[in-house]
This record gives sequence, structure tokens and C-alpha cells, in this order.
Amino acid sequence: MTGAVCMRCAQRYPAKNLDGPCPRCGPEGVLDIEFDLDRARRALSLRGLDSRPRDQWRYRELLPLPARARVAPLHVGWTPIEDAPRLARWAGLRSLRLKDESRNPTASFKDRASGVGVARALAGGARVVACASTGNAASSLAGAAASVGLRSVIFVPEFAPEPKVAQLLVFGARVIRVAGTYDETWELCQRACDAYGWYNRNAAVNPSLVEGKKTCGLEIAEQLGPAVPDWVAVSVGDGCTIAGTWKGLREMRALNFIERLPRMLGVQAEGARPLVDAFEQGRDLAPGPAQTLADSICVGHPRNWRKALRAVRESKGAFVAVPDEAILEAMREAGRLSGVFGEPAGVAGLAGLRKAVAEGIVSRRADALAVVTGSGLKDVKSAIRAAGKPVTLRPDDAELAAYLKERPV
Ligand SMILES: *Cc1c(COP(=O)(O)O)cnc(C)c1O
Repeated sequence: MTGAVCMRCAQRYPAKNLDGPCPRCGPEGVLDIEFDLDRARRALSLRGLDSRPRDQWRYRELLPLPARARVAPLHVGWTPIEDAPRLARWAGLRSLRLKDESRNPTASFKDRASGVGVARALAGGARVVACASTGNAASSLAGAAASVGLRSVIFVPEFAPEPKVAQLLVFGARVIRVAGTYDETWELCQRACDAYGWYNRNAAVNPSLVEGKKTCGLEIAEQLGPAVPDWVAVSVGDGCTIAGTWKGLREMRALNFIERLPRMLGVQAEGARPLVDAFEQGRDLAPGPAQTLADSICVGHPRNWRKALRAVRESKGAFVAVPDEAILEAMREAGRLSGVFGEPAGVAGLAGLRKAVAEGIVSRRADALAVVTGSGLKDVKSAIRAAGKPVTLRPDDAELAAYLKERPV
């Protein structure tokens, strides 16, 4: 690490205290951590990486980890990239791959950020870690904290899906449900961290966490090498996931692991599309309403909007919004046509890709990768809405035969 720079005022800071925003700008001034890529280039080679563990720590030179950092034992990262030819046809694409983030220990992309957050909390001597989340950041933090014996305090808005809340409780988190929006829940958590001195894992204002998310981009580059896709589609709430993925790809380009960079497709829900609007109108963020069944991206005030817009603009990518029905359709079709089961926000990137192809933003000849950011088991209600309910029959051969005659398999 060489230091950090404020995304708002461009002030530079030395590489310490990298767990909060710019002291001058407050939460609007998200920091961006910088690394000495020349030194990293000497340490990281394909051959050298070969002998390292296949998890997110294989890129330790590019992570804000203190020397000899203790990390949680859970296996985070090196998730598979699956080829999905039938789903590609559905999306209108020549080729489509899925990076399946549901394969992380608590079944979402967020484990990448919490891994780094918990390592930094341990290094800093924290005993309590906290975050606000609609569920995935929360369960990943609670799980990682449980694995090393830290206590976790989690603020969730009332609409958080029950399976996610159950996951938190099982991990022994202190769960505080907030009767309010996600944005209000987030503000309450910020104030509580200040008041009680808890380690704040809110990814948007804690720059170290985006570095954890970066490992997704580092992996895509290492796993695919010369076959790096033309487009990478990511669903967007606060904007940390797309920003981190892009940063990882960019660093791997700088380290010569890949020869060109993909374009980033940011996907939001129609009911929560402040970044789509800012992108289309070429202006800064104006917070807006947030309503979508994709709870993980139900964000009206994306805290990391500058990094998210930068990722899409720098990569000559695009932002699109998709209605909830298209998200449910993507949930069903991803399952049916590829065997990958994503939660609504997990497949929103896919839904956006299909729309971007239909609108000519993404070429039909493109080679695309969608990051499936979280498991469908996180939101069973939406899964049933997407796929329907099964028939119930008596244990009777004639009844089965009659049913199959009506509905052949
Ligand atoms: C958090 C989350 C996102 C969006 O990430 P942001 O950093 O908020 O943009 C997308 N999908 C899932 C499953 C998530 O949990």
C-alpha cells in the first residue's frame, strides 16, 4: 500500500487508518487505497501464484492487510466460473459465463469484503464489529466474526428476507431490526459505531472492504487470462461490488495478467436506479426512491457512487435498469438453463445483460460474464414467486399417470 486518496477532494493520506472516510469530507469522501503495482508485479506471477492457497488471500500483496495479519479460517473466494451456453442463448449472446459467488462460505459475494474487514478488526484489537445491511454483508460479517470469536452487531431494515436474518442469528450476531428504510438503518449504524467504538464494516465508507471485493476482479483475470470477457455484468446497490471488481481487473491489466480490459455493465432495479439516472444524464448522484424485491440492491442513496460511476465510465461500459419481473425471470431461467441458483440481486446482472443485448448496448457477438452475487436460498419467497409451486398428488399410480398425461415431462 502506498496510501489513499479521497474520491471527493483528492486529498492524499498515508497508508494507515484505512477503515473510514476522508476526515475532511466525512462519509461523502470515500477513500481509494493505492498500491505499489511495480512491487506487486515482482511478487505476483502466474507461476508464483500456483503454489498459493486458492482463496482470496492469494493476492495478499494487493490487499490492505497488516503484516502477519490473522485471517478468518473460512474459505473465501476462488469461486468457479461456469460456462452457460443455453443461458447465453436466452440472453441473446454468443457466449456467457457465470461467476458463482453463492459458493462463498455464507453464500454471497460479501464474504470477500468481510474477510478483509475481520482481518483488519483483529489487527486493530477490536472486539466488536458492526454493519448495516439488508442481509448479505451482515451474514458474511457475522459468520467471519463467529469463526474467530469476535462479537458482531448487525442492523437490518425490517424488509430483510427471513432466511438472511436466520443466518445472522445462527452465527450468534446481536441483530437489531430497524423499523425504517435501508438508508435510515445505515445512518443509525454509523452513529452507533461512532458512539460505541465498534469496528465499522460498512463497505461504502470503509475503503479496505472494497479491496476485499476487488479479489473477484483479480480472480476473473487470473482464471480466464487471455479469455477475459468483453463485458462483465454486476448488480449495483451501494456500488462497492462493481467498483471492486473493476479495480481488480484494472490491477491485473497493470500487472500484465490480461491484455485488455472488459467493459463493465452496472445493473440496477427500475425501482432503485439512482446510478442509472446519474450515468444517463452525465451528472453526479441524486439520491432517489428505493423499491424492488431485490433487497440487496434496494438502495436509494448509494454510498459509493463515485467509485461505481468511475468503474463504468473508465471501462466504457454502461448502466441499465431492469424491472422486478425481469429479475424474477432471470432467477428462473438461470436455474433452468444453467443450474445456478441466484437470489434476485444475484441474477439482476444477468437480467441487465439480456436487456443490454436487446437494446444493442452489448453486441450479440460479445463474450460476457455475469457475476451471480448471492445464493437463491437467501430469499426463498422470491424463488417461489419466480418458479411457482409444485403439484401435490396422492401416492397413487393412476393419479400420477393421469397427471403426466395432462402434463408430459
Ligand atoms: C450487496 C449486494 C450487491 C450489490 O453490491 P453493492 O456493493 O451494494 O453495489 C449485489 N448482489 C448481492 C447479492 C449483494 O449482497
